[in-house]
Amino acid sequence: MYKTKAYSAASETSGLAADTIARRDPTDHDVKIEILYCGICHSDLHSVRNEWSHMVPTVYPIVPGHEIVGRVTQVGSAVTKYKTGDLAAIGCMVESDGTCPNCQAGFEQFCPNLTLTFNSTDKYLGGVTYGGYSDSIVVNERFVLRVPSNLELSGVAPLLCAGITTYSPLRHWGVTKGKKVGVVGLGGLGHMGVKFAHAFGAQVVVFTTSPDKTEDALRLGADEVVISRNADEMQKQAGSFDFILDTVSAQHDINAYLNLLRLDGNITLVGAPSNPLEVSAFSLIMGRRSLSGSNIGGIAETQEMLDFCGENNITADVEVIPIQKVNEAYERLLKSDVKYRFCIDMASLK
Ligand code: NAP
Ligand code: ZN
Repeated sequence: MYKTKAYSAASETSGLAADTIARRDPTDHDVKIEILYCGICHSDLHSVRNEWSHMVPTVYPIVPGHEIVGRVTQVGSAVTKYKTGDLAAIGCMVESDGTCPNCQAGFEQFCPNLTLTFNSTDKYLGGVTYGGYSDSIVVNERFVLRVPSNLELSGVAPLLCAGITTYSPLRHWGVTKGKKVGVVGLGGLGHMGVKFAHAFGAQVVVFTTSPDKTEDALRLGADEVVISRNADEMQKQAGSFDFILDTVSAQHDINAYLNLLRLDGNITLVGAPSNPLEVSAFSLIMGRRSLSGSNIGGIAETQEMLDFCGENNITADVEVIPIQKVNEAYERLLKSDVKYRFCIDMASLK
C-alpha cells in the first residue's frame, strides 16, 4: 500500500478538496499509472452530490474521475501488454469477474460483479475504489487501454467515457450513411456523439437548449441544429429520424423526441437524470417506436473506439483546468457552460 494525492468530497454538500488516499501496490497482473489528465464527466457530479442515491448511494469520501490518461510507471511480474513508459488509459471499469456470459461476450459493463473506477467496493483494500482525480492509479491490465500516439492527450481522456458511451450505441443501432440521426444535448457526451455520427456518414441533427452553441454544433459535424425549446422547429422534424441519442443530464420531455422518430425508429438514453422520465404509451405505439438505454461499452469496443479515433484524428474539445478549479467547473457544468469537456491537468496536483 502507498499514499497518493487526490481530490475528494467529504459529503454531498462539501465540494472537492485536496486529500491523501491509499492505493494498493501493484500485484502480478497490475499496471501502475501516473495520471496526466482526467476528464470531468457529469456522472462525477451526480455521484459527488449523491444524486443517484436510489441506485448507487455515494460512499464518502469520494474521489471521482473515470476519464483517465497517463503513463505506466510500474508493472506486475505477469503483465504482458504494457511496460514502463507506455501511454495508457482507464475508463469507468477496473475489474469484472471475467466468467459471466456478459464478460465472455465482451460486455464487461454489464457484469453482475463489476467494479467501477470509483465508488465501488474495493476488494483489495476494503472501502470503495477511488477514481482519477488523483496522482496515480493501480489497475489490472485487462482494464487498461492503449492510447494512439498521434492524439493530444488532454483530448483523449474524455474518450474513455464520453467517447465510448456515444460510440457504442451509434454502432449498436447501425448508424451509417443514409441514416438521419439526432443528438440531444450538446455537452461532453453530445459533442462526441455528433463527431462519431458524422464520421460514420450519417445526417446529423443537434437538439440544444443553448442557441449560442449553434455555430459549434455545425463545426463539430452537425448538418442542422434545432433549438429544442422552439415548438415550430421541433414540429418540422416530426416523424423523420431513424435514431436519436439522448444525452441530457436533467429532467426533460422524452415524448417530444419520440414523436420525431419514423417507423421503427429508436431513441437510446445515455443521459441519466436522477428522477424517472414520463413516457406516453402513444409516443411508442404510433410508429412501433422503441426506447432503450446504453451503458458505456466493453473493453474490446473501447479499444476499437480509441483506435478509430487515432485513425480519424478524433478527440474531445476540452477546456483544460487545474484541479483547484474543479468546484467552479462543476457549477459551470450545471449551467451547460462547457465547451465541451473539462479536463483536469493533473500536473496541478503535484
Ligand atoms: P454535460 O456535459 O453536462 O451535458 C449535458 C447536456 O444536456 C448539456 O450540455 C445541455 O445541452 C443538456 N441539458 C442540460 N440540462 C438540460 C435540461 N434541463 N433540459 C434539456 N437539456 C439539458 O453532461 P455529460 O457529461 O455529457 O453527461 C450527460 C449525462 O449522461 C449525465 O446524466 C451523465 O451522468 C450521463 N452519462 C451516462 C453514461 C452511460 O454510460 N449511460 C456515461 C456517461 C455519462 P444543451 O446546452 O445543448 O441543451
Ligand atoms: Zn462518465
